Amino acid sequence: MRIVITGAAGFLGSHLCDHLLDDGHEVIGMDNFITGSPDNIAHLATNEKFSFYKRDVSNYIFVPGKVDAILHFASPASPNPQSRSGYFNLPIQTMKAGALGTHNCLGLARIQNARFLLASTSEIYGDPEVHPQAESYPGNVDPIGTRAVYDEAKRFAESLTMAYHRFHNVNTSIVRIFNTYGPRMDLEDGRALPNMIKQALLGQPLTVYGDGSQTRSFCFVDDLVDGIVKLLYSDEHYPVNIGNPNEMSILQFAETINMVTGNTAGIIYVDARSARDPQRRQPDITRAKTILNWESKVNLEEGLRFSIPYFKQKLGIA
Ligand code: UDP
Repeated sequence: MRIVITGAAGFLGSHLCDHLLDDGHEVIGMDNFITGSPDNIAHLATNEKFSFYKRDVSNYIFVPGKVDAILHFASPASPNPQSRSGYFNLPIQTMKAGALGTHNCLGLARIQNARFLLASTSEIYGDPEVHPQAESYPGNVDPIGTRAVYDEAKRFAESLTMAYHRFHNVNTSIVRIFNTYGPRMDLEDGRALPNMIKQALLGQPLTVYGDGSQTRSFCFVDDLVDGIVKLLYSDEHYPVNIGNPNEMSILQFAETINMVTGNTAGIIYVDARSARDPQRRQPDITRAKTILNWESKVNLEEGLRFSIPYFKQKLGIA
């Protein structure tokens, strides 16, 4: 296949490029580098099956020749208000990537008669009132809340995707991605894992926001990408959760990082991020198991050990 990936220089986009090139496809990457990094795709520069266009997908996108699939992964995604690359500081770009970017990608999929895959998110469930979150749960999102620019952009993107499927019969798919970690995460994006690994490797105490009782379920990137590619190759049109269902409190998560890195500086508690920090998050992956025969394989300790060399290299630690 000839596959377009938007957000190709991002954490997930770049891993998808690698996986799809390994599967023998030709990949056309696009990114405007507002949150992605050229470093993430530098190793592909000499790969003749990979080409790259620096583009803002909120503007009209043109791709010469036949395209068989489009994966729309371009968007800021970090909820940290302090992070320059987080969506708090890129609110309009975030809404445009989710709304106009999705529209442009769907238009391309339509004229190309291509498979379309939307990178959606567990954030569409907001601060969930049901637990774990199955795809049938419509979510609890405040349209003017602090996370709304991301959550509502992705919710709109899902609606638009289903409209193109139902009205134009485009071959669409939607993955709802839960917390994911691994090599190529932006060290400065302020999310729990890069923040805490950085602190641990520098021998500093880990910052736990609030009392640390809020939960997340962390998936290693290779598992996630494997699930997304299975969804791409399937003929499913309705949303599928992909994530690791191993739920833990952020405090347990921090303790695991300290244990795996051998950090003895402990933990400090700082103010909770915001009233809208979701309190519990765990994917129900029944649909992924049934439809895609997929489930996560890598546990947190293993995934951390796979990730640490990358973070050390970025921090200049031998
Ligand atoms: N968090 C924390 N310390 C940090 C960064 C994040 O305790 O240094 C918490 C944050 O408040 C949230 C959870 O970790 O409850 C996961 O945050 P992340 O930024 O990774 O993404 P989210 O799951 O909220 O989208």
